[in-house]
Amino acid sequence: MSDNVRGKDLLNFMDKLAEPERSQFFELLSKEDAVATMQASLHERDRLRGTGAQPSELAFRTQAGSNVGIVGEHEQNRSEVIAAVASEVGDTAIAEDIPPDLHVYLRVPNSRGDPTLRDIYDLPQQVQAELEARFKAMWECEPSRTKTYRRFMEKPGHQVNKDVCLRNLVIRSSSAKGTMWAQGGKHKESACDKCIAKREACAHIDKVNNEYIKVFVPLPRDLRKGKKWDELGYWVLED
Ligand SMILES: [Zn+2]
Repeated sequence: MSDNVRGKDLLNFMDKLAEPERSQFFELLSKEDAVATMQASLHERDRLRGTGAQPSELAFRTQAGSNVGIVGEHEQNRSEVIAAVASEVGDTAIAEDIPPDLHVYLRVPNSRGDPTLRDIYDLPQQVQAELEARFKAMWECEPSRTKTYRRFMEKPGHQVNKDVCLRNLVIRSSSAKGTMWAQGGKHKESACDKCIAKREACAHIDKVNNEYIKVFVPLPRDLRKGKKWDELGYWVLED
């Protein structure tokens, strides 16, 4: 994992902690992780000021292969950090409350119409936070959903080839009922009817460059008409 991605992950994780735990978390970081986190924070600040570099596009490429490398290393390090924080603050609930999660990418067609993946942190912060909050509300609202979601994140490889999105897998297992694509969506390309109706990001797990990631897909073409990829209305119907 690059320092850039790790810094963003750490920053995102710290965002979920209360202030006292943040300080203790920061003290536990290695020098390299502290630098990566600081760089991610500065990058975010520059982007909010409009001075950030143009985000790079990742070619959309799904690879077959074994589950080794980035994800395993990331989850191991993250578990160690969470355990260290929980131990330091004397609160094991911290480690239990936060399911492991995958980094989120956005499926965005480029100018030629070919799909590319963009880091969710390339969105304006408010849009990124709103999209993630809506998705999180789906699995966080009931203990049984949280438990199912945790299981998916711990073994993401089992969900890669499912033919419905994460919302339907979490809520209805694999037996999604009702019409899924009446609004013009298509699995892994654009949002399903259920996610559109709930105004939540439609997401699935994919494996790219040997890493399991979570991918948010845009609304079907007709519903995102007139919106740009970095606007909330490109991904969900706004209230
Ligand atoms: Zn969906």
